[in-house]
Amino acid sequence: MDLLQVEVLYNREQIQEKVADIGRQISGDYRGHELLVVGILKGAFVFMADLIREIDVPMEIDFMDVSSYGLSTSSSGEVRIEKDLEYSIKGRDVLIVEDIIDTGLTLKFIYENLKTRNPKSIRIACLLDKPSRRKAEIFPDYVGYSIPDKFVVGYGLDYAEQYRHYPAVCILKPAVYEK
Ligand code: 5GP
Repeated sequence: MDLLQVEVLYNREQIQEKVADIGRQISGDYRGHELLVVGILKGAFVFMADLIREIDVPMEIDFMDVSSYGLSTSSSGEVRIEKDLEYSIKGRDVLIVEDIIDTGLTLKFIYENLKTRNPKSIRIACLLDKPSRRKAEIFPDYVGYSIPDKFVVGYGLDYAEQYRHYPAVCILKPAVYEK
């Protein structure tokens, strides 16, 4: 990790403990059920890979990729499905796994979209939450950390497709994007 560019917010060990904690909660809540875990690409793939190995109930996994469109650089709430689920979720217990909720507009769209497909239940697990930035009414069921309004990278999260492989969640130093 280039510590001139980033500052560690949560290290590998802290994240591991937190993810194990969320996994235990989910295992307890879904005991006797079978899950369909839906990861939102690309950012959630690292969190999802770790989280599913901490969940001790039968499951299948699937992925969805969405992108915001519109002119604004921040989330516009107009979301397009780039890659849809492979399987039907009708009658299934769905757990959406997301890396970070910022305005909530992206997840709101995904949640409403999946709801129309008649799942038995939908819940949301996200590693990071920036509640101060919320614009849409969306309430994650499992949250790793609530964080302040800083731009973070690592553990799957990118800036211009960089930093996803960093094992820690890091704050990106403004000098990097203010150049
Ligand atoms: P929302 O629709 O909630 O505003 O946007 C959520 C998406 O914005 C996340 O899935 C993520 O891709 C991106 N995002 C929001 N905040 C951050 C951040 O601090 N760092 C990174 N790398 N992406 C973010």
